[in-house]
Amino acid sequence: MALLEIKKYPEKILAQKTEPVKEFTLELQKLIDDMVETMYAAPGAGLAANQVSVSKQVLVIDVSMTEEKIPLIVLINPEIVYIEGESEFEEGCLSLPGYVTVVKRAEKVKVKGLDRNGKPVEVEGTGLLSRALQHEIDHLNGILLIDRIGRLRKEFFKKRFAREKVLSKSR
Ligand SMILES: [Zn+2]
Repeated sequence: MALLEIKKYPEKILAQKTEPVKEFTLELQKLIDDMVETMYAAPGAGLAANQVSVSKQVLVIDVSMTEEKIPLIVLINPEIVYIEGESEFEEGCLSLPGYVTVVKRAEKVKVKGLDRNGKPVEVEGTGLLSRALQHEIDHLNGILLIDRIGRLRKEFFKKRFAREKVLSKSR
């Protein structure tokens, strides 16, 4: 296994829609293992393939740090098929280091997809799992959490980002 480089905002690949997986190759298995290792090392609760420069519909999620009974989730070509309710909670992203903001999302989701061997699976989640599923599926569609917080807050984020970039260069 290997640690992969996590791409950060404003890398273009993060804003691009990923392609569905068609073949369940050894290469795919290696990508999944590397993504899991990279997520744990970060540490993070989830990772989408385009965050590690692969434009494919692959995500991994592990929320066991707070939801002990939920095992590691690997989803290929995931699709949200049902949503319910609404919840607002703080969220961060490995591609936006140091940034945490409140994001409004569905309280409950049901997701259909394939497991790492291509077998159909369904995952249902509330709370942190629901949030992680929505966050990672957004990634696969080229959407970052800053695209979910409204225009004004996004402008504020961009200003702060530009300022911090200038500061880190002058150091
Ligand atoms: Zn993220």
